Amino acid sequence: MATVKLVNVNKVYDGGVHAVHDFSIDIQDKEFIVFVGPSGCGKSTTLRMIAGLEEISYGELYIDGKLMNSAAPKDRDIAMVFQSYALYPQMTVYNNMAYALKLRKVPKAEIDERVRAAAEILKLTPYLDRKPRALSGGQRQRVALGRSIVRRPKVFLMDEPLSNLDAKLRVAMRSEIVRIHREVGATTIYVTHDQIEAMTMASRIVVMRDGFIQQIGEPDYIYQYPANMFVAGFIGTPAMNFLHGTLQGEYFLPDESRDRIKLTQSQLEMLKNYQGKRLVYGIRPENLVYEQSGRYEQFAAQSFEVSRGIVEKLGDIINVHCTLGNTEIVVKMNSKYGSGLEGKPNIRVAAESDYARFFNESTTMAITPENNAYEETPAREEPQEESAVPSPVQPQKKNFIEVFKAKFKK
Ligand code: ADP
Repeated sequence: MATVKLVNVNKVYDGGVHAVHDFSIDIQDKEFIVFVGPSGCGKSTTLRMIAGLEEISYGELYIDGKLMNSAAPKDRDIAMVFQSYALYPQMTVYNNMAYALKLRKVPKAEIDERVRAAAEILKLTPYLDRKPRALSGGQRQRVALGRSIVRRPKVFLMDEPLSNLDAKLRVAMRSEIVRIHREVGATTIYVTHDQIEAMTMASRIVVMRDGFIQQIGEPDYIYQYPANMFVAGFIGTPAMNFLHGTLQGEYFLPDESRDRIKLTQSQLEMLKNYQGKRLVYGIRPENLVYEQSGRYEQFAAQSFEVSRGIVEKLGDIINVHCTLGNTEIVVKMNSKYGSGLEGKPNIRVAAESDYARFFNESTTMAITPENNAYEETPAREEPQEESAVPSPVQPQKKNFIEVFKAKFKK
């Protein structure tokens, strides 16, 4: 049994870098939580604060309901797995796994039982007598996991444990770790910059940016209902397409386009405060239907013309890179349409209306039936020429974090 709870945890490094802002989450027993976000967003710092390797500047950390802010790392009953797995080269696999237990004076019979049980789970039983140099990268990573598993910690913390492996092994180890987690059943917090790892492994994902939590949720939910344009663009490859434009009556008018996209009754109801106003229409590449597809007619009222650019071939599917004025639009389609695209500078695509998402252009927050007031970020006070480095994110950030916090403060 292990729950982990963070309440408004902050990290301010010496020198003033505020790396983590008000991080709050309630992690249930046996959950597999993934912190994901671009490099430098504060994932490792948060993990290291949970491990006790980094001091919490302010805020509270509870493990199993006990305040842990000032507990030493060894008293937190956690195990940490890093990307560099530094095994003892002169020891066998068995001894690498047994070592920490020997130091703790665990009885020999129990050590043997725990090492063999872990080896079974990790499929390392045939290799127990080998030295690390006679193992593959994936097997070495499993030994590193084994060293943690034998300690039977309450919580596993993993910091990019797969980033040293080649692409194929990473995919294999992804499902291995998920399987191991299921068998061991321990609460796990896993850090990665790779949104595919997050999507495939997590029971819940925490998306971070610039030290702020952007959204917490199950992978499918975050994919379907991103809380803001950052999450919509970060989760999913290729990223969600964003059409900027205006709502006029029943239509969304994309900038630089002669087409109008007809909105459904429920969309119009949700967007009622946006009549005549600017907003962003988001649609994923796989939810744009090519005009040659049999499903096109059904969505023709939501269609628009784009200029076709390069075609990226992935075997079963193709990503067709297009533009609408200055906006890049990617359309994912079955590769059977590939040959028909040749000699076509322009194509029509239609949005599957159920998958369209809408965002406030100024705050970048998702517009939802519950959260659909029209908002504008106040104009910046400083004169334009003073800001040598324009920062479009700064003025919005505070605003949408406030909105986001309000939403999650149930
Ligand atoms: P991530 O794991 O998401 O890549 P980190 O948690 O490592 O991000 O870093 C978050 C921010 O904190 C970055 O801006 C980084 O430069 C800064 N940072 C990390 N460690 C230190 C440190 N020891 N001293 C000062 N700043 C740090």
